Amino acid sequence: MVSEFNFILDLIKRLPDEKSCHQYLASRRWNGYMVCLDEFCGNDKAYIFKDGIHYKCTCCKKIYTARTGTILESSKISLTKWFVGLYLVMHKKGISSVQLAKDLAITQKSAWFLLQRMRIVLGNEQDEQLEGTIEIDETFVGGKNKNRHVNKRVKYSPGRGWPDKTPVFGMLQRGGKLKAYVVDNVNMLTITKITNYHVRKYSDIMSDGFNGYRGLERSF
Ligand SMILES: [Zn+2]
Repeated sequence: MVSEFNFILDLIKRLPDEKSCHQYLASRRWNGYMVCLDEFCGNDKAYIFKDGIHYKCTCCKKIYTARTGTILESSKISLTKWFVGLYLVMHKKGISSVQLAKDLAITQKSAWFLLQRMRIVLGNEQDEQLEGTIEIDETFVGGKNKNRHVNKRVKYSPGRGWPDKTPVFGMLQRGGKLKAYVVDNVNMLTITKITNYHVRKYSDIMSDGFNGYRGLERSF
């Protein structure tokens, strides 16, 4: 993403506001055919709101945007800042969260958060498989749980994760590269499939004893 922009002026001309950023993301994500993000629906027809950003599923009536269900969702930072941030991270190797905060006029905490997410986005754009020793884990992001009053929060379920959060499956190669993806679930089939694709065969995998990881022993 944004790697097609060679000059910061290209980026500013192409993506000057939230609407253009959302439409750019939508084109990269859906190739022109938006898909309802409700896992039980998956309908590909939607009304587009006047703002050019929000979609309403014609079937289940859920409202979503191109950000929904992606790693770019779980923050209040505008897409304009996300894309300029991505550009800076790609063109200034090793930029600090202090500098990024200044450049984007955001808090250092937000900048640190952005840097973590960008590492994931950029890691995912590299095609080569991970190898060596890889730590895998699943985590849950997003949802509004933390903003709720304590007694209205969704309790940690006896399975894994929180019902209102998005599961993300991550693979971290010792010493650097990270790939992480939003997944529909973290069952054995999903995890085996994604790991087979992104990790070289017979690499060493470190994980906890979660059931979803049982299928990996045959290949790793
Ligand atoms: Zn729907």
